[in-house]
Amino acid sequence: MRRWPWGLVFLLLGAAVQAQVTAIRAGRLADPEKGAAATNQIILVEGGRIREVGANLSIPAGATLVDLSGATVLPGLMDAHTHLCMTLIPERDHGSYYITTLLDPTPYRAIQGVVHARAMLEAGFTTVRDVGNAGNYADTALRQAIERGWVPGPTIINAGRIIAPYGGQFQLQPEKRKLGEPEYFYADSRDELRKAIRENVHYGARVIKLVVDDQPYIYSVEDLRFAVAEAADAGVKVAAHCWSDRGARRAAEAGVASIEHGYQMSDETLRLAKKNGVVLVGTDFTEEAARGIGVADPKRFHAEFVERLRRAYQIGVPIAFGTDVIHAEPGQTRGTLALHYIESFLEAGVPPRDILRMMTSNPARLLGVEGERGAVRPGLAADIIAVRGDPLEDIRALERIVFVMKDGKVFKYIP
Ligand SMILES: [Zn+2]
Repeated sequence: MRRWPWGLVFLLLGAAVQAQVTAIRAGRLADPEKGAAATNQIILVEGGRIREVGANLSIPAGATLVDLSGATVLPGLMDAHTHLCMTLIPERDHGSYYITTLLDPTPYRAIQGVVHARAMLEAGFTTVRDVGNAGNYADTALRQAIERGWVPGPTIINAGRIIAPYGGQFQLQPEKRKLGEPEYFYADSRDELRKAIRENVHYGARVIKLVVDDQPYIYSVEDLRFAVAEAADAGVKVAAHCWSDRGARRAAEAGVASIEHGYQMSDETLRLAKKNGVVLVGTDFTEEAARGIGVADPKRFHAEFVERLRRAYQIGVPIAFGTDVIHAEPGQTRGTLALHYIESFLEAGVPPRDILRMMTSNPARLLGVEGERGAVRPGLAADIIAVRGDPLEDIRALERIVFVMKDGKVFKYIP
């Protein structure tokens, strides 16, 4: 029997894969941080990373060429507030995701996560922060499957189980006390908070999501400071769900990384958030999404979010794009529904350049991946998309996506 020197064969194959260079010809290369674009650029990608960017680069022999000379190339988008492992079905759940969590077991939700992760990537989102509602850690499983290359999807910063005061976001009844778990992790005392954060980190959470104010009893500023310190000690940040101004004020004072929703934030609380460097992830609901989750008056709900977004933008709070889509819509995907949120930003009078920053470099900083992703720059992971048109002038161009590359791998390419 012929004996192949398999070790050598694999070494050579490995070297060949390593040396594979992709050269992207970009008609325009947008830099969201600068709010400007350079024309006729070449981007060299190797080993999943951006090796060089410039106008006069020589393309190495044998490189794979991607011609995007008729498009605008930009860094992959980010959504800082997703729930990939949950789908509300209005006719079944009657607008209550308590029912969703009772009926959909963790394995089913992991499969939903696979579908939604793929859809987000297809729409140009190469990184998401997934803030819980994933049953018993379906989100960790999803993140690991994507990281190992089994399924396509964005980089995921996942929250594991949402930590909340007793009852979480549900109204329980005393004979069925357990029904809110594992969806929520009840933590009222400091010991319980510490335990919940540690358990979450142990089971793969990369961020801590706290629900501050969905019960009449809410976390105090000291509770929140404690949680921020405990999370930081384990290397993760805190995202705080705040619906009321009272809750948001406490979160802003405690210096959480981000306030989610901030639906009723007053100008004073927005100014406090700005002062403390707290990012607003406003989940500025479109009318479509509001209707999809069964809100009584979707038009008004949407208008109230837009009004708060307008104030937040004028005050100058750091803002990161985050959607909170949990419903499904015929003919749409989780990714296209997320892109529709751009309309809320336009209605609030946010210029395209700033919207683009809120969808790339701002969330990169919030998610703690700014040294790795969020820009087209040598050394960073090659998370690159391209669209027809110029998103710096017309942000809706983001809906005309022709190319998605994630970690140097081409996922979508419409020449
Ligand atoms: Zn949410």
